[in-house]
This record gives sequence, C-alpha cells and structure tokens, in this order.
Amino acid sequence: MSESCFTSEFSPALLLEYLIVNNLLRVYPEFDETPGVKMPEKYQWPNPDGLYCKSYCPLHPELHPIVFALVDEICEVFESDAFHAGMDEVFCIGDEKCPRCAGRDKAELFAGEVNLICNHVALKNRRLWIWGDRLIDGKTTGMGMWEASMNK
Ligand SMILES: [Zn+2]
Repeated sequence: MSESCFTSEFSPALLLEYLIVNNLLRVYPEFDETPGVKMPEKYQWPNPDGLYCKSYCPLHPELHPIVFALVDEICEVFESDAFHAGMDEVFCIGDEKCPRCAGRDKAELFAGEVNLICNHVALKNRRLWIWGDRLIDGKTTGMGMWEASMNK
C-alpha cells in the first residue's frame, strides 16, 4: 500500500499525470468529479474519504477543449508521436453525486474517455498509451485496487 501519490511506482508519466490533473482542477475546480471531497492540508493514505487522488469529470461539457489543448501542447513541446495519458490513477469516476455521471456505468465512462483521447491524438498521427491497471477486474483476479480496478 502506498503512502502518497509518489511511490516506488514513480515514473515521469505518473508525475505528468499527477501535475496535469491536480493543476487542472486547481484552475478549473468545476471539472472535479468529487468536489465535495476536499484534499486535506496534510495528505495521508488511507484517509476517511478514501481519497487517493482526484479525477476530472469526463462528461463536463467544457472539459475536452482544455484537455485536448494540454495534450497537444505537451506533444508539440516534446515533439512526440505518442501521448501517455496514464489512466491508472482513475479511482473516482461515475461518482454518485456527480450530476452528469451518477447512475452511469463506470466502465463505459472510462472507455469513453480513453476513446475520446485516443481519437484526438490519432487526428495528429499520434498514438495513445495508457497503463492497463484500470482494465483489469480487481475482484475477479484477486489483484486488488492498486494493480487492478475495484470500481463497479
Ligand atoms: Zn462526472
């Protein structure tokens, strides 16, 4: 179990994912999937909210022009023909209190977001890379919440 977002699994892609999502939500708090859950001043895991890290709402109508501009800028600056979106830190998706996502299938929300980003980068002849953790059923495999998805 990890003590923070920066663990032995640290990688540049993980750092980039952390910085993008956390700074995105600082500038655009309306994109937060769980705005009622606040990041504590002193973060520690585990915590009463079960908050490992924040996620954006994949159905917010103003989100994707901003996310796509960030993705494009990162790819252009690094002259990359691929974009690694991480996606392994998506613990909060389809929150029951989100006015757009409540009641929706979390797997479909995740797949929809992956497809949107994949299609966007493909328009510029780039490939999308993601970690596979969230594509594995943690209960069926017995792998648990860190190596697989426990989202229902
Ligand atoms: Zn939502």
